[in-house]
This record gives sequence, structure tokens and C-alpha cells, in this order.
Amino acid sequence: MNLSIKIFIALVLSVVVGLIAGEPALSFINWWIAPIGTIFINLIKMMIVPVVFFSLVVGMTSLGDTKKLGRIGAKTVCLYLLTTAVAILIGFGIAGIVSPGTGLDLTSNAAVKVKEAPSLMQVLVAMIPANPIDAMAKAQILPVIVFSLFVGIGIVQVGGERAQLLIKFFDAAAEVTYKIIGIVMQFAPIGVFALLLPVVAKNGPAVLLPLMSVIGCVAVGCVIHAIVVYSSLARVWGGHTPMEFFRGMSEAMMIAFTTCSSAAALPINMKNCQEKLGVSREVSSFVLPLGATINMDGTALYMGVCSLFVANVFGVDLTMGQMLMIILTGTLASIGTAGVPGAGLIMLAMVLQTAGLPLEGLALVAGIDRVLDMFRTCLNITGDGAVTIVMDQEEKKYDSNVAGAEA
Ligand code: ASP
Repeated sequence: MNLSIKIFIALVLSVVVGLIAGEPALSFINWWIAPIGTIFINLIKMMIVPVVFFSLVVGMTSLGDTKKLGRIGAKTVCLYLLTTAVAILIGFGIAGIVSPGTGLDLTSNAAVKVKEAPSLMQVLVAMIPANPIDAMAKAQILPVIVFSLFVGIGIVQVGGERAQLLIKFFDAAAEVTYKIIGIVMQFAPIGVFALLLPVVAKNGPAVLLPLMSVIGCVAVGCVIHAIVVYSSLARVWGGHTPMEFFRGMSEAMMIAFTTCSSAAALPINMKNCQEKLGVSREVSSFVLPLGATINMDGTALYMGVCSLFVANVFGVDLTMGQMLMIILTGTLASIGTAGVPGAGLIMLAMVLQTAGLPLEGLALVAGIDRVLDMFRTCLNITGDGAVTIVMDQEEKKYDSNVAGAEA
């Protein structure tokens, strides 16, 4: 049986068992089952830094020159920003129609403590690792990306036989990381079941129902964005039918959905994009890690929906200026959101604050954030895949144009 189908069955099973077992079984589940989920997450996390470092260095050396890197980099970032802005608009649109949260009683909800979101400059400074080993030890992807870029550029500039030696080494090391990911993925169905069961058993339908409209808006928004924007990109550039595209992405999507972490889904996304969607290693090993860190369309969409939700709950009529502020800060905040569970909630505080909305609204969102996180993370990594297909095709076109001009 296909691995994605097995993962999907595990997912359905965890919902059914979780709803039947409910709160009474929670201590048993937390004691015996949840650790298995943690083991699975650890196995995936174990591969994040190696796969980013080795494959990005390989990607850089195969890009060959810094001009090519600049060209791909600039286009990739523009496309990432564009899709993110569209996502937040879709979030706005849907929340505008559905108007989630109207009539909700806030009084019983305790205030939530939120860590302060970093400023844009802080994010920029944190991108440059003062100590690359420290950044790797802490699995900070952005600094590791920056360091890997430098190592790659260094190898290219050394050139000659010595460089070849290193390129072969990094290439083989990247291959080893892919093999290990393949082995780890065999455990995915068990891991997914063990990860989801405690969430379902704890939250149950009672907690979810009152906030269903927000969940519905985020879920429907994510589906619309994925179908309209991503499958068009994959169709127009990569020639993939939506079916092919989503089938190719399905394993990574499931992992993102269950782990709520773009970073955790990255190794699987790399493998799938290359093996199932035919993207070259040189493009995917650059575009995907970058996307897992800066491209968060699902998070942006969630910010649009949640800002309107908070405005509704507190009876605030948003002005045009406030809306523009939400779009701008939402897009920037999604870039600064780390690819780990719950990071979007922290950044949402920043968006609400800059738009002048009451931060108390976070308490409400916090209660259902895990469920929202599943949908947004799933969209986040699907967007990375779609943009990777576009960039891969753009590069192929560029290479054939250059070849044509030389002939
Ligand atoms: N969990 C999301 C991710 O990893 C980030 C977020 O919380 O929005 O992509």
C-alpha cells in the first residue's frame, strides 16, 4: 500500500480513537502513546540540519556561479512574497464573507501570555550566524542556510581538483541524508497516529465547536489557495495536473499537517519534489529550505482570518488603513515566523498590535491554534513545493535559451 494512504488511514484512525477515548484515556495516551509521536518527530528533526547543510552546499556548487544564485534568489523571494500577499487577501475575503466569531462570549477566557515578536531588524541580524556550529546545534535554519551558502560559494571559488573532492563528499553526504529520511518515513503512519491521538483526545468536539467558524475559514481558505494558486502554478510551469501535483506533495503535506512544523516537513518535501515532481536537486535544495523558513502562506492567511475574527469579537470596525496594515505586517510577520509549531500565534500578536486590535483576542485563538496550525503549516509547505516547480522550470528555460544563443 502507498505510504501516503497508510499515513492517511493513521490520521483517520487517530481521530476516531481519540474521539471515542476522549479525556478519560488522556493520561494513558500521554504516558504510553504520545512519546512514540515524540520519537517520530525527533527522528525527523534529527535530519533537518544535515539535509539543509549538505544539500544546500551541493546545490550551491552545482549552481556554479553567484550570478545564477542571485537570479534564482531574487525571483524566488518575489514569488514567495506575491503568493503570501494573495494568501492573506484570500483569508480576508473568506473571513469577510463568513464573519467568524460574531456573537461569541469572551468573558470566560483567560488572557494568554505571549512572547514578544522579534522586529524585522532583529530577524535580519539573527540570520547571520556568529557561530555556525551553535546555529546548527540549535537547528536555526536561516543562519544555517546563510552559512551553507558561504561554504558553497567558497568551494566554487576554490575550484579545481580540491573543490571536486569536496563536491563529491557533500554530494555523497546529501545522498545519505535522503536515504535516512526514506527509512524514517517508513515509521510515519505510526508516528502520525501517536502524534494526533493526544490532540484529539484532549480537545474533543466540545472545545472545537464554538470556534468552528474560524477553523472553517482557515481550512477553506487554505484549500482555495492551494487549488487556485498552487495547482495553477504547477500546471502552467510544471505541466502537472492538480492530481499529480497534490499526489506528489501528499507525504510532505501529511507530515506538515501532523507535526505543525515546516522545518520537520522539509526533508520529506525535498525528497518528494525531486523524486515525484521531477524538480532538479540544485533548485530544490536552495528554494525549499528558503521557503520552509520565509514562505508561510498558510500563516499569512491565518493572520488575515484571525485579525478579522478578533475585530468581530471585540466589535471593532476595521478601517481601510488598518486592513492595509494587516496585509503588510501579516506578510512581513509570516516571513519572520519560524517553521515550528505555534510560531504563527506569536507573530499574530505583532499583527494585532500594529493594526490596533485588542491582544486579548489571542486567548481565543490560542485555544484552537493547534488545529489552525495543522492547516496553515500544510499550506506553507505546499506553497514551497509549487514555487520550487516554477523556479525549476524557469531555470531550465534560461539554460536552454543560453544554450540556444550559444549554438
Ligand atoms: N507551524 C507553522 C510552520 O511550521 C508556522 C506557524 O505557526 O504559522 O510552518
